[in-house]
Amino acid sequence: MNIRFHIVDLHLKHPFTIARGSSTVRQTVILELEHDGIVGFGEAAPLQRYDESIKTVSSFFEIIDHKKFADPFSLELILQYVDSITPNNNSAKAAIDIALHDWIGKRLNMPLWKLWGLDKRKTPVTSFTIGIDSPMVIEQKIREAENYPILKVKLGGQNDEEIIRTIRKVTDKPLRVDANEGWKVKELARDKIEWLVSQNVEFVEQPMPANQSADDLFWLHENVSLPLIADESVKTSADILSLKNMFDGINIKLMKCKGTREAIRMIHTARALDMSIMIGCMIESSVGISAAMHLSPLVDYADLDGNLLITDDPFCGLEMNRGSMILNDRPGLGVFPK
Ligand code: MG
Repeated sequence: MNIRFHIVDLHLKHPFTIARGSSTVRQTVILELEHDGIVGFGEAAPLQRYDESIKTVSSFFEIIDHKKFADPFSLELILQYVDSITPNNNSAKAAIDIALHDWIGKRLNMPLWKLWGLDKRKTPVTSFTIGIDSPMVIEQKIREAENYPILKVKLGGQNDEEIIRTIRKVTDKPLRVDANEGWKVKELARDKIEWLVSQNVEFVEQPMPANQSADDLFWLHENVSLPLIADESVKTSADILSLKNMFDGINIKLMKCKGTREAIRMIHTARALDMSIMIGCMIESSVGISAAMHLSPLVDYADLDGNLLITDDPFCGLEMNRGSMILNDRPGLGVFPK
């Protein structure tokens, strides 16, 4: 197995602002696993929030033992080895999981959705994300998003009500709200959410910080009338049980959970606990996005717009029409370098 990686700059169409901060460019790492003349692509989009950076991802790829990859079909053995190297580095581990699956799909001449036995017609419509901004820019962004039937709005900054009122002047589309841990006091979070009930909002993602006390999170869940989805509070399947009765659902991201194999475990765990499931993303190229898209027939909600928010996706082949994600019959991830 030949293992290579390169760092790519992804430039955002608009400066992307959430409750935690703002950026105009994000770096991502594209991984290539080459074996028997076939190249499997993977991606690691590291976030500081989860203690990862381009440096931690690069260092991780530099220490992996290539000999463990002799048979790429041995997913369980290889991924157990990869996971045993360090306790964290989840986005780097996700890149390896994604690249191995792409390689296997290409080798078997089969798209991933088919390999997993899924119905490709069951992909949910993805939401399109509107970052925190001034009313003038929000209006412009809403016009640019006219092809997307569902909007996800970032709140938790200084002007939540102004953002929602601006959007509601322009459109009555269903909204999903993501506070990204921005509301630090339970009563404030409750008041914000109860106001959103009147604004045609479907659900609220991560209203309070992941390290908020369990008592506060239970209290909030008891005292609001919109469903709450955990994002920063949940990384892998091991986190889900303790969130029952604090949240109604979970947001799975491959970069948090180490890849598609763990994502499938999370889906089954959440279903067993009668929790709803969303699949989301970071700012990513269409390598990471397509991997999540192949899993999306198993989930209730999708927020897979990372590649739509950038101007220079280094890959192509991912198909989307007005927010509908189209899984085709190309093998593996179905994407290729431009
Ligand atoms: Mg979120």
